[in-house]
Amino acid sequence: MNDQRAQPALPSVLKKLGAMTSLRDTYLVEQSLLRTLGPLLGVLNTSLFRIDVRGNVVRALYHSRSVVVEDEHQSMVENIKEVTNDQEVPAHIHHLISTVQMLSKPCGQKAEDGLVICYPIFGKNEQLGYFVFQRDRELTHVEDAVTHGILEVFTNYFDLLDASQRDQLTGLLNRHSLESNLDRLWNILSVRQHASDVKDSKRVIVPESYWLCVIDIDHFKSINDTYGHMIGDEVLILVARQLQASFRQADLLYRYGGEEFIAIVAASDIVHATQIFERARKRIEKCTFPQVGHVTFSGGFCKADPTVLPHEVISRADCSLYAAKNAGRNRVYFYDQLVKEGVLKEVKAGDVDLF
Ligand code: GH3
Ligand code: MG
Ligand code: MG
Repeated sequence: MNDQRAQPALPSVLKKLGAMTSLRDTYLVEQSLLRTLGPLLGVLNTSLFRIDVRGNVVRALYHSRSVVVEDEHQSMVENIKEVTNDQEVPAHIHHLISTVQMLSKPCGQKAEDGLVICYPIFGKNEQLGYFVFQRDRELTHVEDAVTHGILEVFTNYFDLLDASQRDQLTGLLNRHSLESNLDRLWNILSVRQHASDVKDSKRVIVPESYWLCVIDIDHFKSINDTYGHMIGDEVLILVARQLQASFRQADLLYRYGGEEFIAIVAASDIVHATQIFERARKRIEKCTFPQVGHVTFSGGFCKADPTVLPHEVISRADCSLYAAKNAGRNRVYFYDQLVKEGVLKEVKAGDVDLF
């Protein structure tokens, strides 16, 4: 390709940066980073790896471009793939990431047909992720400087957006970001469900399912009334931290009301999902909170079924939560079980006011 030899042109770089920073969704900004850097570096495949504090990959985003010829016309087709399982990341990438982590600078590794190059993406003090791509040769000084610059703009902008999607008190994701993430999750689930429908007769893929739990702290008003609002706030912060530590990094945790949270977790089946939410409940139950002592929560959960509207799924989880409250609190109830037992009638959207 001719453009592989060319240096990145300044107007093109600025235009792409403008496009990247016009977006308001962190997920789209990540995609845009890959879309921006791929053509600038003259490569077809780029990827982004996000890591947790332990250095494990929590999310990998792969972007590829390919040329399709149809009726003698050439067009470029783009494809984005997201993986949230550390084990699905290829061993050679893991190895390269570890090296970059150690050296805190970009590194390359010989591959069959060229070099795999990895750039660290820095947060305020630590590495938050890696940008990886394959090329037939090393980067020039100019390309290297442009890549560093774009990654820096990306990180700063991403941090700003990320802050706008978080609740100020607890640092968890806020209700506003719940809305957009639910749309995204439903899209992924619909595509997956379609794929599994097609392959169902062969039983090749068992898609992992997602479960949504509404969590509400028990008798929180009396904590405020007894110890004051400041201590109440502290309890909220500590509960948020404990919940975060109980769920995995790839799970999503939102504060969507005063003392109410929503967790969206991946689990293979109902047994696994119950274990995850029960583990969180027991963790909070066992904690000793300064001054207040013990705090519990109740929860209601159901499967994130792509054939049911997101708000209906939240309604179902919310009704299950209220059943848990009525049954004495400090418990987590599963919607389908409650319907089976006749405790709940099937909930339709609009039955519960949530937003
Ligand atoms: P239940 O077990 O039925 O959930 O009882 P509850 O007392 O937790 O529920 P209720 O909805 O009656 O009270 C919730 C309280 O949460 C009322 C409100 O003052 C308090 N709250 C809401 N947001 C905040 C906040 O940001 N900080 C503090 N400290 N309190 C808050
Ligand atoms: Mg409440
Ligand atoms: Mg409550």
